[in-house]
Amino acid sequence: MSKPLYITMHEADNVAIVANDGGLPAGTVFEGGLTLVDKVPQAHKVALVDIPAGGAVRRYNVTIGYALKDLPRGSWVHERLLQMPEARELVGLPIATVQPPEQTPLEGYTFEGFRNPDGSVGTRNILAITQTVQCVAGVTDFAVQRIKAELLPKYPNVDDVVALEHTYGCGVAIDAPDAIIPIRTLRNISLNPNFGGEVMVVSLGCEKLQPERLLPPGSIPIVDERNVADVGDTAEAKLDVVCLQDDAHVGFMSMVQSIMRQAEEHLERLNARRRETVPASELVVGVQCGGSDAFSGVTANPAVGYCTDLLVRAGASVMFSEVTEVRDGIDQLTSRASTPEVAEAMIREMAWYDAYLDKGRVDRSANTTPGNKKGGLSNIVEKAMGSIVKSGSAPITGVISPGEKLKQKGLIYAATPASDFICGTLQLAAGMNLHVFTTGRGTPYGLAEVPVIKVATRDDLARRWHDLMDINAGTIATGEKTIADVGWEMFQLMLDVASGRKKTWAEQWKLHNALVLFNPAPVT
Ligand code: CA
Repeated sequence: MSKPLYITMHEADNVAIVANDGGLPAGTVFEGGLTLVDKVPQAHKVALVDIPAGGAVRRYNVTIGYALKDLPRGSWVHERLLQMPEARELVGLPIATVQPPEQTPLEGYTFEGFRNPDGSVGTRNILAITQTVQCVAGVTDFAVQRIKAELLPKYPNVDDVVALEHTYGCGVAIDAPDAIIPIRTLRNISLNPNFGGEVMVVSLGCEKLQPERLLPPGSIPIVDERNVADVGDTAEAKLDVVCLQDDAHVGFMSMVQSIMRQAEEHLERLNARRRETVPASELVVGVQCGGSDAFSGVTANPAVGYCTDLLVRAGASVMFSEVTEVRDGIDQLTSRASTPEVAEAMIREMAWYDAYLDKGRVDRSANTTPGNKKGGLSNIVEKAMGSIVKSGSAPITGVISPGEKLKQKGLIYAATPASDFICGTLQLAAGMNLHVFTTGRGTPYGLAEVPVIKVATRDDLARRWHDLMDINAGTIATGEKTIADVGWEMFQLMLDVASGRKKTWAEQWKLHNALVLFNPAPVT
């Protein structure tokens, strides 16, 4: 058996986590004399000192709970022994108090990307077919299968054809104030840099979300003379819509052929594009975690945080998200805001989400899963401390609301739910061209629209899921590599994947999760 090992995050902590695969039995003696009085599973906490009933249990130098009974030194500290602290109130927070040391710019790093008419850069060259409503999903999917089989082979520079399927569009209170969130999400996904500015829409005809409401005049770019509308003085892009209820359609095949005919026009243009060398500052990276364990905050997320700092120094955009997984660290975030306005925007997003959860009579504690707890995370406070480290140490320079498009560089807080699919969908809408996803329990998550680099928090997961995980951050816990080593490895892999030189495992196997819209508005 390997040497017994525990990992402490901060010198003021009174618990640490057991690092060994399979956990350790009662009676295990660590170097330094600590003896386990209970069997402790891997990634679970052990008391480093006697903690009296009511005493604060500290990890990451933060109180993650209060002991419900006396916890002797060497005992297993799990979620049933802890009372969770109240969420920090959103008043009296430190505002833009941290002055991070000036970081030297990271220059000379590039990747090969597809430059778009609006200046953004794609990492893949994909034809996306937008849908106004779920009703057309079956027809669109049928057409996409035929496009892939019959047309795509003629256009070798196009990577893929993707139907942007979703469940919105009708049967919803479309004029409710919060309906703006799903509508702008769909609009902005259609404009994601990986789709080259080519927008085509399949509509039913009678749906609430009409094509002009989804993509109003002026919202899509002009790509050539064929998509210019005749609107008098000012040139405007013509919206390319195939409407299934059009009188012109007689029979199903007429609809399918109409979609295929329109798709071919976009495929021709996409096929003419070539990768060119662009600076690393054109990366728009969305970071996320899912299926987390107590190692997430020790290995994979700190490595992502290191890489986030590298990306920010290179002038790129990095988004971190997941409201319920940063809520308990709001004071860390408002203090790292670059200006009071950024801090206020962050507080506004948290307050909105508190109210949203309150309407459903839950709070942030509804976030943690049985798997998180099995993986050693006692509650959302502990989980949040491990999640926030993905944001690295740079000042936070911007905040966007759910579904908004990102228009600036630097470290951005993109407010989204923590749900993997909803967060990924909203980061796509923000303009993400590369996704990084850490997991400890293991999830095969992937998206059709953007490459997803998956990072394992543990050696054991990386070994078993060797053809699903792109990076093994478990080497940090075993001492083989440092956080900086893995952070740099991630940065280099990002440039390779963005350039199309390497495919991620999720791309290799075509593991594609659904787009899931965040719709806080009523359904009718
Ligand atoms: Ca997540």
